[in-house]
Amino acid sequence: MRKKKKFITSILILIVIGIFYLFENYPIEGTEENLNKRVESAPVTAENRLEVTFIDVGQADSILLENNGNYMLVDAGNNEDGPKLVSYFKNQGIKDFSYVVGTHPHEDHIGGLDDIIKNFNIETFYMPDVITTTKTFEDVLDALEEKNISLSIPNKNDTFSLGDASVKVLYVGTEEESDLNDTSIVLKISFENVSFLLTGDASTKVEDSLDRKDLESTVLKVGHHGSSTATNEDFLNLVNPQYAVISVGKNNQYNHPHNEVLNTLAKNNITTYRTDEDGTIQMITDGVNIEINTMTTDTNG
Ligand SMILES: [Zn+2]
Repeated sequence: MRKKKKFITSILILIVIGIFYLFENYPIEGTEENLNKRVESAPVTAENRLEVTFIDVGQADSILLENNGNYMLVDAGNNEDGPKLVSYFKNQGIKDFSYVVGTHPHEDHIGGLDDIIKNFNIETFYMPDVITTTKTFEDVLDALEEKNISLSIPNKNDTFSLGDASVKVLYVGTEEESDLNDTSIVLKISFENVSFLLTGDASTKVEDSLDRKDLESTVLKVGHHGSSTATNEDFLNLVNPQYAVISVGKNNQYNHPHNEVLNTLAKNNITTYRTDEDGTIQMITDGVNIEINTMTTDTNG
């Protein structure tokens, strides 16, 4: 009897491992554009879905969000990524953005925004109320002027809709911040039960100042490319994400992501994706489940 029981237990374990493997590593056929595309979890088939794509732009940020044909772009990589992002979006048939957000005026976030402004219709363009004297920043202002688009400054706790998804502004820095990173616009995007927290390059100082009730999120875009200036363990415990995404360049000069952050994520069993290792990371949700695809895209200038 005992032997039989052991045998049945072994078979059951094998079946569970088999199912786990199927769902975790189910590869789909690569196309020419999406080499290495993999489905990392069960596919989401609902028509009403929020797609969030963390685009591989090297040591920089660029995040595309879409629901029911409404598009939002948060940051546009470095200057040299601009033309590549324009092609990438045009290939997807994108013509208009409901919202474009420059989280803060550093080149690795606003570098490609002038190209985006020149090539697409933009309903609302958000940046913090901070002025810098760089050519990159002036290029953005010139492009806005050329297209007659005004620069809107969001307020903390503003909310707006992206189709059926809602976007809440959790923080906007001012010129009083000594560190430009701490002027980053922090956004939470929610679609039914699934939410994404995008913190730009904001440091622990800003993370600590956010309203605690807003923090819990399914996915955290790890702050400042995985720098140890952000993402301390207390903050991570409050966000309590299932997934983390680090937007970071291969062999970057800052040694991002820092080991402290990677260790904290690992210690808390948070599944972590990195653009330097996984390429472009696409998350598709029906508001309950999340399908995750990673793929190589020609978006890193
Ligand atoms: Zn940055």
